[in-house]
Amino acid sequence: MTQISTEQLIKEWQVLLESTPKSIYHCAQQLAQQHAPQLAESFYKHMLEDPHAAQFLSNEQVQERLSGSMQNWIITLFSLTADEDLRPVIAQQKHIGDVHARIDIPVHLVLRGARVLKETVARLLNGHAEQAECLIFTSALIDMAMEVMSQAYSASNDKNSRAEESYRLFSIAQNSAHEKDRQRAALLDWENQVMFDIAMGLQFNQLSTLAASEFGLWFRHKGSHAFEGADETGLISASIDQIDTVILPMFKLAQQQPEQHQQLLRSLHEQARSIAYHLDTLFAQVNELESGRDVLTHLLNRKFLPVVLSKEINYARQHKRHFCILVIDVDNFKNINDSHGHEVGDIVLQQLAVLLSNGCRSGDYVFRQGGEEFLMLLVDITAEKAAKVAEKLRLLIEKEEFRLPHGLVLKITISIGLAQYSGHPDPQKLVNRADDALYMAKGQGRNRIIVAD
Ligand code: GH3
Ligand code: MG
Ligand code: MG
Repeated sequence: MTQISTEQLIKEWQVLLESTPKSIYHCAQQLAQQHAPQLAESFYKHMLEDPHAAQFLSNEQVQERLSGSMQNWIITLFSLTADEDLRPVIAQQKHIGDVHARIDIPVHLVLRGARVLKETVARLLNGHAEQAECLIFTSALIDMAMEVMSQAYSASNDKNSRAEESYRLFSIAQNSAHEKDRQRAALLDWENQVMFDIAMGLQFNQLSTLAASEFGLWFRHKGSHAFEGADETGLISASIDQIDTVILPMFKLAQQQPEQHQQLLRSLHEQARSIAYHLDTLFAQVNELESGRDVLTHLLNRKFLPVVLSKEINYARQHKRHFCILVIDVDNFKNINDSHGHEVGDIVLQQLAVLLSNGCRSGDYVFRQGGEEFLMLLVDITAEKAAKVAEKLRLLIEKEEFRLPHGLVLKITISIGLAQYSGHPDPQKLVNRADDALYMAKGQGRNRIIVAD
């Protein structure tokens, strides 16, 4: 999607601002300052009426801040003048759009809020000397802000869906080598059986279709979903269809010429071979997603963090559950590299990754955030219990003797920032809280856990 550049936006905003008389600026500014609370309320009251949006907007934390930040937004927007630097204002609209995408507030709800806001402005301006001009000016400002927001929203949303898409593929990639062998074998089994049945003179209605076979069931229910969108998926579906509805029924013509019979067997075999070929291609693409794992540690790559966090936030919200994240950073890791070399550092990180993975339950997630920093997401747990898990990890690492080439033995410690999901819908907020806690742990001397708030 092509984005309208900030430069272009600035030009357009400037045209509007420069063509507007001072008295209209003044009118808009006064309106915002005098009626900010009422204007803000008209905006989000309607959004709260939507059950989906209410789910997260009714969160106390959000409501507390929402009114304040909405008022600021209106005041900033309605107080714009031609000689102002528009960059920060445009950046703010982009930021709001990003946040909406992150917490999944659909763009149509925001546009609806904007419409109600304009209605409220119109009402408040009723009887004002410059009613019409001021209404046109403020409406244009709102529209422009909405335009920037929506643009940022859809860009963020695209990025999220792409990550979701690769996570979906990634989740089947976990066991792809095994699954591929199994499905190839199942396909071959079916082909052998049907060839044998045909050779034994069975008729079409006695032959089992490919769609109903072990392979067919897997493909229709799982494979086609996992590989949704790939060309090969469509080609395999078409081949299954061709076999079941065109080729197999032809075997019912009892008095076939031998050449005809052979021709049919050949096309059956060819279709099955083409399915196997496309299946290989699909699985080969999945293997490339091994890159979804961090190359050094084989932990989850950080690019999946937003997807997993959103998924877990939704789960926690729907099922009224808790979860926690631990941001884990190796203490003074630079010293290890400096004293023993980068390769030794790498081996330590690999061994640490194994300890972290073994130190949590299979429902939990471990990401490598980059460098010597890791993030664990512990599901179904409160901060109190998670702090115990974290303490166990801390002790485990402190005691561990990292065994390295040439008989070298090293010991390390880690610092951990822990944050429990607070109900705030923005995943970034949760990560920031844990990061701040980690920062405090470092400040207080390292090798310790700090629980956020
Ligand atoms: P602190 O306790 O404050 O976290 O100190 P620190 O030395 O661990 O932190 P700092 O951020 O100063 O340094 C991190 C070091 O980690 C710097 C870099 O050389 C090293 N590092 C980052 N990624 C890798 C990696 O993949 N392999 C190795 N061997 N070292 C890495
Ligand atoms: Mg460190
Ligand atoms: Mg670090």
